[in-house]
Amino acid sequence: MTQERKVALVTGASRGIGAAIAQQLIQDGYFVVGTATSESGAEKLSAALGEHGAGKVLDVRDGAAIDALVSDIEQNYGPVLVLVNNAGITKDNLLLRMSEDDWDDILNIHLKAVYRLSKRVLKGMTKARFGRIINISSVVAHFANPGQANYSAAKAGIEAFSRSLAKEMGSRQITVNSVAPGFIATEMTEQLSEEIRKKMSDQVALGRLGAPQDIADAVSFLASDKASYITGTVLHVNGGLYMA
Ligand code: NAP
Repeated sequence: MTQERKVALVTGASRGIGAAIAQQLIQDGYFVVGTATSESGAEKLSAALGEHGAGKVLDVRDGAAIDALVSDIEQNYGPVLVLVNNAGITKDNLLLRMSEDDWDDILNIHLKAVYRLSKRVLKGMTKARFGRIINISSVVAHFANPGQANYSAAKAGIEAFSRSLAKEMGSRQITVNSVAPGFIATEMTEQLSEEIRKKMSDQVALGRLGAPQDIADAVSFLASDKASYITGTVLHVNGGLYMA
């Protein structure tokens, strides 16, 4: 092992929310492995993370690649003690026009990847009797958006998965929580139609879109010792767009 810090793994750290989470966790004292889907993205990420981080290539749809990445991290940096399942895309369409491929892709990238990654890191966390699994959900798991049946179902699944795993792993001091962002200014929300963007931002009590750092702060809290008695919950960070 080449470093002493606890290791955090953040998927989809090349931009948007994941990039802010990765930088925040470095500030919090972790060694952060962040992932991108391309070699060039991983190289840029390594440069951005500096001496306390590393950028790696990962497509979360590839189970063998997940295994290989976590083995590589364990060998070179130490066990993954904080896992942030953040990688994600949208493939929006009304259900009548939604292809089965678009349904499967969203369920694989969001929900199945969370199953695979969480399962793969549990051994190391169990041994350490410490672990934080933080899954990035979405307000749309609670608040309906037309055209997002695939994405909403995947995000609701992530939250239910997190509660079940929280019960299973609590006795080992491994916490499992979700953060449900509202409307955050990233490339993902730039893809939404102007009409949906306006409709959503008009409903935000705080009257502005969120920033990636707003989500990074919530993740930082859940990863910290201050949140050691919080598990199986959903932390809503949405400026009052939806009040649970
Ligand atoms: P983003 O800016 O579009 O970034 C997406 C990230 O996921 C990128 O790092 C991308 O890597 C990575 N990624 C995409 N497909 C992947 C795959 N198959 N395997 C591994 N990584 C993959 O998205 P974002 O807005 O930051 O969203 C981050 C998370 O927050 C997602 O889970 C999203 O559902 C959730 N969320 C976002 C909002 C919002 O308003 N933005 C609201 C609620 C929830 P590359 O750069 O290599 O493509």
